[in-house]
Amino acid sequence: MRLHGKTALITGAAHGIGRATAELFCREGAAVLLVDLDEAHGTQLAARLTADGHRAAFCRADVSVAADCEAMVDAAERHFGGLHVLFNNAGIMDSRDGDAVATDEAVWDATLAINAKSVFLGCKFGIPALLRAGGGSVINTASFVALMGAATPQVAYTASKGAVLALSRELAVIHARQGVRVNALCPGPLRTELLMKFLDTEAKKQRRLVHIPMGRFGEATEMAAAALYLASDESSYLTGQEFVVDGGITRAYVTPDSPA
Ligand code: NAD
Repeated sequence: MRLHGKTALITGAAHGIGRATAELFCREGAAVLLVDLDEAHGTQLAARLTADGHRAAFCRADVSVAADCEAMVDAAERHFGGLHVLFNNAGIMDSRDGDAVATDEAVWDATLAINAKSVFLGCKFGIPALLRAGGGSVINTASFVALMGAATPQVAYTASKGAVLALSRELAVIHARQGVRVNALCPGPLRTELLMKFLDTEAKKQRRLVHIPMGRFGEATEMAAAALYLASDESSYLTGQEFVVDGGITRAYVTPDSPA
């Protein structure tokens, strides 16, 4: 088992990438603290994982609130005796996010708070816990849009993910000699609730699909597999990286279907 003896804290664990990762990390031997705003689904998943013989617990937290982030890290240490993997993954994509002219200040503020400030807060309280455990791995979920922009305008979201990349790079260097690795996971467009709600018409979906060389949306389980590598000791010499798992979208000037 690739995470035997490790404890992981995963935010946004009730749905999508976080949920798939919680399931996979448990199967790989980790004790997992599931963190989310959605108490119903989070509690249900933790109960199922526990019933299946895994070590899992749920903690309700709003990742944009400092006191909640402090409490979630405390909960991980209290439940499982230490923290080795911190997966700052929770995020939102507001359907009112658009270009700079149309996007309300409130949408900007909420998006930056939940997608970017949350990563700062997770690290603020989580990195000391990793150090107390003798080192560990931080994985921050950014996005391919931080590298190339989005086909459908969403400036607040794109900027928030750019902040996650910049923060991850700097933290990686700060903590490199303390046994704490920090990497950013950059998923491509996925078939999760978050993106399917944003691309709410077939035309919008097709507009995104046309850019993906593989011709399909990614799956949450494919991001979980990438997170497992970043969490495990197999990636022991990897830090400060943008780990791009995107069906080829960031390499696409043309797609296989484009006219010559
Ligand atoms: P999702 O909507 O399926 O899951 C997100 C989870 O975060 C939900 O369970 C939600 O309840 C939780 N959450 C939202 N706000 C929260 C808050 N303030 N505090 C605690 N929990 C909160 O989305 P997903 O597709 O699994 O996205 C996970 C991450 O991946 C996000 O950071 C997202 O920006 C990023 N991402 C997604 C895609 C995609 O195409 N879906 C692509 C690139 C990056």
